[in-house]
Amino acid sequence: MQGRFAIVLAFAVLRVQAFTRDMDHAERVRVRVDNEAGAPAGVLNYARVECARILRNAGIEVQWTSDASSGDLRVGIISEPGGTAPSVLGYVLRNGEGASAYVIWPRVGPWLAVDRPAFEIVGRVMAHEIGHLLLGNAPHSSAGVMRAVWTADDLRSTAWGAFFFTPGEQSMMRTEAARKGGHATY
Ligand SMILES: [Zn+2]
Repeated sequence: MQGRFAIVLAFAVLRVQAFTRDMDHAERVRVRVDNEAGAPAGVLNYARVECARILRNAGIEVQWTSDASSGDLRVGIISEPGGTAPSVLGYVLRNGEGASAYVIWPRVGPWLAVDRPAFEIVGRVMAHEIGHLLLGNAPHSSAGVMRAVWTADDLRSTAWGAFFFTPGEQSMMRTEAARKGGHATY
């Protein structure tokens, strides 16, 4: 009985240490959101909060910015689907100057049928696309926010940690955020 208690305690201590280590190593990224689609400001404000919460859980602290520095990440809220399949909510475009993420605002509307607020869906899509910006060519994940396909049940999930970045993704994202932070233009 005493042995079992000791194991439980050791596990608890490890969990606390892991949490502390993650918070010590939180990296900061600057993100600019361009509302080209004219989405309601209130929706985007709360979407930023949801997005920042998901990224904070991955050890990434988002600093929202409205000016354009070359080291910043950019998320465009757009109305044109850009030839993407009808099920696509967002995507990342890469060119010689870098990468930009996009959320297709009109595509959010039909998903409101899952009875979750627009800001939550937009915030989760933003977190997914910012994930792509920080993860480079890493493939989609089979779990968490970087899954390629989200079902209605996924979006209905109010579980606090349902849209998480895997430990491997967290590590890669923090490394990339730290690398970007080293840029003089950042
Ligand atoms: Zn994706």
